[in-house]
Amino acid sequence: MARVVAIVNQKGGVGKTTTCVNLTAAISSKGKKVLAIDCDPQGNLTSGFGIDKKALEKTTYEVLIGSADIRDVIIKDKFKNLDICPANINLAGSEIELVSMIAREYRLKDAIESIKNEYDYIFIDCPPSLGLLTLNALAASDSVIIPIQCEYYALEGLSQLSNTINLVRKHLNKHLEIDGVVLTMFDSRTNLSLEVVEEVKKYFGEKVFLSIIPRNVRLSEAPSFGLPGIFYDPDSKGARAYMELADEYLIKIEKNNIKEV
Ligand code: ADP
Ligand code: MG
Repeated sequence: MARVVAIVNQKGGVGKTTTCVNLTAAISSKGKKVLAIDCDPQGNLTSGFGIDKKALEKTTYEVLIGSADIRDVIIKDKFKNLDICPANINLAGSEIELVSMIAREYRLKDAIESIKNEYDYIFIDCPPSLGLLTLNALAASDSVIIPIQCEYYALEGLSQLSNTINLVRKHLNKHLEIDGVVLTMFDSRTNLSLEVVEEVKKYFGEKVFLSIIPRNVRLSEAPSFGLPGIFYDPDSKGARAYMELADEYLIKIEKNNIKEV
């Protein structure tokens, strides 16, 4: 049964999509069967994997609204071991359309249920808001990964995110865990980056992954080639950092799972 993981932070531009694209690609390259779900109307995850978002007939939108089966939306084997549930701007309408729907927070959870046993991991790329799309992702997930950019005001908004996670635990999904916090766009030449790392560690303690993602131009170029950074330039610092993060993540999660048995 897949572990379902939402990549969440209501701030835009912190590296959610870059982390989702590269972590799913890295984990699938290690032989795990992975599904990546685009839950952001911007569709950056979709285009980051080289899918033409304007040409899509069915997307996450149709899944949430209930007019398509997720199996008919998923693009299979886009890369080895990696399937994608794509999205585009149509998804923007769902924030409003979902409001009047029955079980509006559980639409994604219900859709995923039937395919969960076909994957080892399902990662959901969230939009930069805490609206119904993100609530659907959190209600459907076993856990979250929170990317935090090494920049001024890095911690701003995190208490709001913690509140949302607590509310979701109370009302929608009591088992929601935090798998970890990933620091992104680290610049080793600045004191600021180091200060942010220390502050985030004070706030999140051992939840912070040891693998820190550097600011790396190859990671930001990769989407325009429709490739995850780890495939676009596997030797780049950014690609290596995401491969390390994938190793660290799998060890952390799969060790915990063995303990539970
Ligand atoms: P979010 O999904 O949180 O909005 P993105 O992953 O789209 O954030 O990243 C925002 C921008 O920063 C994008 O242009 C992306 O290519 C760039 N970016 C993300 N991570 C890195 C990195 N480690 N190094 C350089 N650029 C990055
Ligand atoms: Mg994004």
